[in-house]
Amino acid sequence: MKPYRFALPLLALMSVPVVLTGCTDLSAQEKAKAEKQEEKAVDPMEARLAPVQVKAEELAPGVAVLFGAGGNMGVSHGEDGTVLIDDQFAPLTGKIQTAIADLGATPVKFLINTHWHHDHSGGNENFGKEGAVIMAHENVRVRMAKGSTVAGREVAPAPAIAQPVLTYKDGVKLHLNGDTVHIRHMPAAHTDGDSIVYWEKANVLHMGDLYFNKVTLPFIDINSGGNAVGMLEAANIALDMTNDDTKVIPGHGPMATKADLMAYRDMLAEVIDAVSVARDAGKSLTEIQAMKPAAAYDTNPNAFIKGGAFVEAIWKSLENSAK
Ligand SMILES: [Zn+2]
Repeated sequence: MKPYRFALPLLALMSVPVVLTGCTDLSAQEKAKAEKQEEKAVDPMEARLAPVQVKAEELAPGVAVLFGAGGNMGVSHGEDGTVLIDDQFAPLTGKIQTAIADLGATPVKFLINTHWHHDHSGGNENFGKEGAVIMAHENVRVRMAKGSTVAGREVAPAPAIAQPVLTYKDGVKLHLNGDTVHIRHMPAAHTDGDSIVYWEKANVLHMGDLYFNKVTLPFIDINSGGNAVGMLEAANIALDMTNDDTKVIPGHGPMATKADLMAYRDMLAEVIDAVSVARDAGKSLTEIQAMKPAAAYDTNPNAFIKGGAFVEAIWKSLENSAK
């Protein structure tokens, strides 16, 4: 599959024959062919994103969540400037900027990537060009610079302007807009570069893809250094940081509470334990998949990750942890 970054130049190139043939009197057949070519020239990603609306929901004074397509975004705004957490896909940048302006916020000053995946960092190039300071865990920069394959989809190396310029190992704090924003790295979980973001005063927690709320079973990107056991540990650390009033922004899915996050943690613990026990008893991956240890939670037929893939990721995680 072609890296998305090449979509626009490709679109420009493929449009040329259509424009040229448009100068002559085309037969119906040729016209149909030209139309077909034009159809093909439209990047499927851009077409899919065209109807997407970016909607904001205020969570506390100066703190909001933005929903669009891709990873949920967080916003901190006020007199010290606007912070954006994750930025979805490049074609949505304009809509994201409009949603931020509608909150009464100034243009983005700091951009934090919760991890390197393209549905959370696809707008980096646009925001970088507009002067945002991009921050992330050091492995995010390494993986963006290299490019990789995620779930079978090739992601090209990111240009320098899209890469984080401020990286950290364990975390960093932002003191702005009357709050302290804690950015904390969680080792080897969804990837090896995940961060969670916690607004201390507003009591809002952005989990990135360490938390998929209801929409799918967890995606653990083993290829990017992810590990199911780290995912469970991250959920436990996050729970320690929260109380019953905390507003939890998941990487994907609707807003959540501490109770929702607890149920997610319990699910992770239960399925990891079931796979681990069966594996220790000598069962093969195929045998454990057939046992369907995640069946009770594998309820969405359209989910990105189904029970079999989840079990396989846990199996590989346990294998990697044992090395
Ligand atoms: Zn992700």
